[in-house]
Amino acid sequence: MLTLPQSSPNAIEGLLDRRPISTAYPLASHIHSGSRKTTPVQITPTLSIGGDKVVMIAGPCSIESEAMAQECASTLAKMGIDMLRGGAYKPRTSPYDFQGLGRNGIEILESVRSSTNIPVVTEVMDVRLVNDVAQKVDMIQVGARNMQNYPLLMELGLCGKPVLLKRGHSARIQELILAAEYIMKHGNNSVVLCERGIRTFENATRNTLDVSAIPVLKAETHLPVIVDPSHAAGNNSYVTPLANAAIAAGADGLIVEVHPDPASALSDADQQLNYNEFSVLMRRIAMIAVACGRTVNWQL
Ligand code: PEP
Ligand code: MN
Repeated sequence: MLTLPQSSPNAIEGLLDRRPISTAYPLASHIHSGSRKTTPVQITPTLSIGGDKVVMIAGPCSIESEAMAQECASTLAKMGIDMLRGGAYKPRTSPYDFQGLGRNGIEILESVRSSTNIPVVTEVMDVRLVNDVAQKVDMIQVGARNMQNYPLLMELGLCGKPVLLKRGHSARIQELILAAEYIMKHGNNSVVLCERGIRTFENATRNTLDVSAIPVLKAETHLPVIVDPSHAAGNNSYVTPLANAAIAAGADGLIVEVHPDPASALSDADQQLNYNEFSVLMRRIAMIAVACGRTVNWQL
């Protein structure tokens, strides 16, 4: 019978120690870090992802107006989130759907960031916009649809800002790690991986959250791993259970879609949480994080 090592604070880590280190992705793997630990990624002088603290990123799917962004950011900041999310350039499946406010959305994020003092992450799809957006936000997101956009990944290697790299809809774990390796090989070691559900035969949820990816990515890389339960679930009633599972499985944080009035949202209305639902999620996550020997930055 397999027995877990008692001396390890994290029994899974003890098991992972015995796995060979892959050389297919030398920068992302544990080879250079010299230990089996996660290397925290510094977002601001006071915020890092990948340490003892479970990090909470939350905000609307899209920035819809200055008033909405300001109200949402200040409410979520008071609840204790670590970072605000909000899309300005939106990757929409249909060209007839709301495409985001674009440059105006970035300017709104910039003003919300300075008025609330909360760091922001937003998506960039176009290689030509990387440098400009990198100067205005704290972290740049690569969305699922662009995980294998190699010119974009290479430009992000040079951008000087941390990158949140989402797993592609149909990407294998190894392909996600190799996408991170592109960014790192071009000079940027500050990469956070994000599991956001993959496309499977199951259609009861928008995507299938691959919880297995969390321990596998931890075993294979030293990069922080966060989870997006919103795009996995596609339905607000499944978001909190998936978030709970992610933190219990060892994720370093969450990125959750929260909207002041989800029913009126211009994108992803079905999956966004309202403030009450989000406060329940935060309470649950705090309990699970503490039970897993971690901490959080909020008190509810
Ligand atoms: C998003 O986070 O707004 C988004 C579009 O996510 P994904 O790329 O995971 O679909
Ligand atoms: Mn969305």
